Amino acid sequence: MGKTKSKSNLPTKICPVCNRPFNWRKKWANCWNEVKYCSERCRRNRSFEKVGGMEAKSRR
Ligand SMILES: [Zn+2]
Repeated sequence: MGKTKSKSNLPTKICPVCNRPFNWRKKWANCWNEVKYCSERCRRNRSFEKVGGMEAKSRR
């Protein structure tokens, strides 16, 4: 057995805001477990998703 090709074997997650997969990044090395959004922008947009605010009252 040789080397395992771990070059393109980065973990990925799917951003719940834009529904796109995104790759592990070095800056997330310490907090990858907590990363949920692909970018700062999506992280802010998450409030649109489910904020449990005024809108989500009689919507469903
Ligand atoms: Zn996103």
